[in-house]
Amino acid sequence: MTHQPAIPTLTAADPQIAELIEAEATRQHDKVRLIASENYVSQAVLEATGSVLTNKYSEGYSGKRYYEGQQLVDPIEDLAVERAKSVFGVEHANVQPYSGSPANLAAYLAFAEPGDTVLGMALPAGGHLTHGWSVSATGKWFNAVRYGVRKEDGRLDLDEVRDLARQHRPKLIFAGGTAIPRTIDFAAFAEIAREVDAVLVADIAHIAGLVAGGAHPSPVGHAQVITTTTHKTLRGPRGAMIMSDADHAKAVDKAVFPGLQGGPHNHTTAAIAVALGEASKPDFREYAHGIVANAKALAEALLERGFDLVSGGTDNHLLLVDLTSKHIGGKPAAKALDAAGIELNYNTVPFDPRKPFDPSGIRIGTAAVTTRGLKPQHQPKIAEWIDRAISAAATDDAKALHTIAGEVKELLAAYPVPGYRD
Ligand SMILES: *Cc1c(COP(=O)(O)O)cnc(C)c1O
Repeated sequence: MTHQPAIPTLTAADPQIAELIEAEATRQHDKVRLIASENYVSQAVLEATGSVLTNKYSEGYSGKRYYEGQQLVDPIEDLAVERAKSVFGVEHANVQPYSGSPANLAAYLAFAEPGDTVLGMALPAGGHLTHGWSVSATGKWFNAVRYGVRKEDGRLDLDEVRDLARQHRPKLIFAGGTAIPRTIDFAAFAEIAREVDAVLVADIAHIAGLVAGGAHPSPVGHAQVITTTTHKTLRGPRGAMIMSDADHAKAVDKAVFPGLQGGPHNHTTAAIAVALGEASKPDFREYAHGIVANAKALAEALLERGFDLVSGGTDNHLLLVDLTSKHIGGKPAAKALDAAGIELNYNTVPFDPRKPFDPSGIRIGTAAVTTRGLKPQHQPKIAEWIDRAISAAATDDAKALHTIAGEVKELLAAYPVPGYRD
């Protein structure tokens, strides 16, 4: 048995699924997990997620539900909401969105009408699909205008944001993204939003844990609405929250339910409460700063090895590596790295000349390895493995990749993770 909590009943009832879950626990244990949107949750979060709360329907909000039997779900949701308010210092929190994408949809439903103009970061520049990208419902149902980054330094171009906002007068402005390695200036976004009378939505899905731990400036007091996932740097279950000031609270709640969703996922709500409890402890601050210290150390080690980083480095948990000078595409590089026990994703880089399905870059995040207990002194080793794996990919050297995977597994054996026991 390797999975923790143990799954003996599942193993007896459905060995096929149980075996795959066991293998996934082992896989997560044996690899350096560098996908910037992923993490390892605590065993307490895993236990809440796997609880009987999944049996309960609770449409509505605490004290105003449509079904009976909410004696225990109400205080659970109340705790999640109170903890979110306290951890982030917000006036209102809705913990019911099923995930980050529905949370963003709720922001559209609350504050815009179909056909209205919205302004968000372009996907290839580092934005999210739900910030108005063309293939997303948000790009199809709204008139989406997109900003990017500067060609010279790969950084967000606030002059462009201001110009586009003045020209197009959007109802909503999204600040945030999936591949932004630098600090986001929420105060500057707020000034632009105020000037054009737009609602500013800070989407902190990636950096929520850093914000909670004081390792990234908070959008609170700048953005009227804040959306976030709970499963990235915040280290909770797969889920999302929408936070807001008091003025926007009612519209947010109405949009989530009954506007967009039915019953909340109560097991997820409980697990969010548990994760927020963890995030309120002093050692979470240390954790958040540790994520950034690891990212900076890894950036430095990669730069020393001649890798090009978009924007030249990082301020947060995330690095975007442009592999053009290494003469390999992001996709073959990511595949080779996976074979070498290093899990990450291929990613477009700003102004990418290659196709989205085989772009020029890879994205790296340090939240999961920090949870695991790796420190800045381990980062040169990770950079060395990445360098060797990418060289091995160029010569199709499967043996070298296998050797690296062995070294990865050996180092990680000393760093236990929740969800797995030998
Ligand atoms: C991950 C992410 C989302 C979407 O989250 P899902 O839970 O995958 O739907 C939205 N916005 C940003 C910026 C993200 O990084």
